[in-house]
Amino acid sequence: MKKLTQTQEKLFHAINTDSKPAEWRDWKWQLRHSIKDIDTFEELLGIEFDPDERENVEKTLTKFPMSITPYYLSLIDIDDMENDPIYKQAFPAISELILGKDEHADPLAEDKDSPVPGITHRYPDRVLFLVSNVCSMYCRHCTRKRRVGDEDYIPKREIIQQGLDYIRNTPQIRDVLLSGGDPFLLSNEYLDWILLELDQIEHIEVVRIGTRTPAVLPYRITDELVDMLKRHHPLWINTHFNHPREITASSRLALKKLADAGIPLGNQSVLLAGVNDCPRIMRALVHKLVANRVRPYYLYQCDLSEGLAHFRTPVGKGIEIMESLIGHTSGFSVPTYVIDAPGGGGKIPVMPNYLISWSTNKVILRNFEGVITTYQEPDSYEKSFCDRKCAKCNLQLKLADADEYKSVGIGKLLADYDKTISLTPADNERHQRREDD
Ligand SMILES: *Cc1c(COP(=O)(O)O)cnc(C)c1O
Ligand code: SF4
Repeated sequence: MKKLTQTQEKLFHAINTDSKPAEWRDWKWQLRHSIKDIDTFEELLGIEFDPDERENVEKTLTKFPMSITPYYLSLIDIDDMENDPIYKQAFPAISELILGKDEHADPLAEDKDSPVPGITHRYPDRVLFLVSNVCSMYCRHCTRKRRVGDEDYIPKREIIQQGLDYIRNTPQIRDVLLSGGDPFLLSNEYLDWILLELDQIEHIEVVRIGTRTPAVLPYRITDELVDMLKRHHPLWINTHFNHPREITASSRLALKKLADAGIPLGNQSVLLAGVNDCPRIMRALVHKLVANRVRPYYLYQCDLSEGLAHFRTPVGKGIEIMESLIGHTSGFSVPTYVIDAPGGGGKIPVMPNYLISWSTNKVILRNFEGVITTYQEPDSYEKSFCDRKCAKCNLQLKLADADEYKSVGIGKLLADYDKTISLTPADNERHQRREDD
């Protein structure tokens, strides 16, 4: 086992003189000694805030509490703390109390799309299932900030059971995404029970878990946890690393255990001003991730949640980062940049434009270097008209449930079998005038 870093040794002894050094790697020890107040923070790092600064932080804490694992604290660079990405993600700032005019407590309307407590059913075939309200660290950029840390509780079996019943009774759900809070703060037994219940639902094809523990509490990934998870394949895990400095010897080991258990790993990052809004930082991050068998999955535009204004970047920054990645590095190192639509429209991918123009026989494209190129369309293309009689189609989709497929959105406009020619907002005035006539 790797030795602790010097900072970790020092912190460990400062926190607890009589525990055995091995306890540093005990995730429960880490949680028990999480830093929740300014005094302890100052004491452990040997620093002192100005009275003004301190007062500000105290104000912020009354609205949005803090909780930092000793491990994550050990990653802070005290010599350049103001600019430190770890510090900024963990330690409260007065700017969190400045409420921007466009911000909401629930910007994604997760509550509105919630048929039963804990479930958000937004997309046709998958649900978000919040199974924990607890996190190992309260990220300052958390989109569910108003909820996390408010009441630290783990939903009781009865509540979880309601979510499971909803999933059981809704056959179109094939993918369940366990999130929170952090599902890995449940005990192995409790999580095992939830996964087992999900395994028994026939229409569930895949379960995913979103967790930040590999980044902020890597010791949570124990052999026992991994042995339990292995029994619930196909299981996917998404982690949440935002900065290359979060990938340490300890988090590498955690990722290795998960990957060795055959769990496909993805990563979701949030684009954060002053933390990772830089093409070089993002490139270093995605390279470190893939070197640890983690596929960058999403790069999120920062949400319009309360208290996040100081973390928001223009969308242009995200596009610039995507421009610097696509083509410049391995395709599987490139995440999809998404904006979660305010009001609950779901994730919308945004990208630089590569399609410049087109005619009936040519498409004009540009590549990552700026080379403009033409793609010749085929002279003859025998289109198979789609009437959705899949059983008779020469493309051979002879599945029993092939007919059940329903087209929605733009797909509906593109479909041969659907006569819809436009999608019109419900409150379109021009249409309302027509109805009034
Ligand atoms: C993100 C999200 C999902 C999963 O979306 P994918 O694009 O499939 O990863 C599902 N439900 C909700 C409410 C979400 O926010
Ligand atoms: S781990 Fe996730 S849910 Fe928990 S505070 Fe951080 S961002 Fe929020």
